[in-house]
Amino acid sequence: MKITNYNQIPQPIVRAIQKNWYAGAGAQHFCSVTDLIKPTKLFVLARRHQQELSREASELIWSLLGSAMHKVLEASETGESLNEERLYATVNGKTISGGVDLYENGTISDFKFTSVWSYIYASARKEWEEQLNLYSYLYQQAGFEVDKLQIIAVFRDWSAAKAKYQKHYPRQIEIIPICRWSVDRCEEFIRQRLAQMELALHLPDDAIEECTKEERWQDEDVYAIMKRGNKRALKLCKSQQQAQAYMKAHKDREKLYLESRHGEPKRCENYCPVSSYCHYYRDLHPEIFLKAI
Ligand code: SF4
Repeated sequence: MKITNYNQIPQPIVRAIQKNWYAGAGAQHFCSVTDLIKPTKLFVLARRHQQELSREASELIWSLLGSAMHKVLEASETGESLNEERLYATVNGKTISGGVDLYENGTISDFKFTSVWSYIYASARKEWEEQLNLYSYLYQQAGFEVDKLQIIAVFRDWSAAKAKYQKHYPRQIEIIPICRWSVDRCEEFIRQRLAQMELALHLPDDAIEECTKEERWQDEDVYAIMKRGNKRALKLCKSQQQAQAYMKAHKDREKLYLESRHGEPKRCENYCPVSSYCHYYRDLHPEIFLKAI
């Protein structure tokens, strides 16, 4: 992947970003646990277009700081723990691997240097559950006992002011317990994912189905009931019928109007490295691609 620096951030930082900090680089495997939990389309497009992909250095600063944190934690190893150990297993004749941040006294911990939004948004937490259970599977296959799984989340955009006033706002570092799956459930998940990946790898880019709404981190479309003169919606409804019924019964119904709001696919818009190769993104933004022709 090519790193660009149009925003002209300082060269020492760009050099650090260009260095490959990924512990799994060069691993002899079909795919990693991180690949297994990615949406299939994203996995295949990233694999296929790896050489053509480019990222702007300034977009990768948080990822660099995350790598730095992992290195520091690795250096604080006690001798009774395993840090950043890469383990392998073979399922359906395919080798998978995963690098676990910390294994200590039967507990697997994964450190996430992440945003408060990903903590609150349920879909990201689903991916965490999948990831940690696949790590647990690798450890159990290697003969280790696993009793507990947890995410140690450090919030990079944490705000002391919001923590004071918002009811469900997290603390700066949260330990998030992750529910454990049976070995059979892990194996079934891996088998299914490998089959989906294998199938998609044989299809042309546009024939691979787009990611699901959940994988696109997209909220449901809603109908906002607005009152003339107000900027904020009086109420958000999931269906047009529900919204119309509410408006009909409202004392100020003459002043109300309806606004339909489409849930933004946040991953496609802001976080997907392969969006320029994806038919779904192309259909969302034909203007960008027409300009490029
Ligand atoms: S642009 Fe959206 S739909 Fe396409 S691969 Fe990326 S996340 Fe999936």
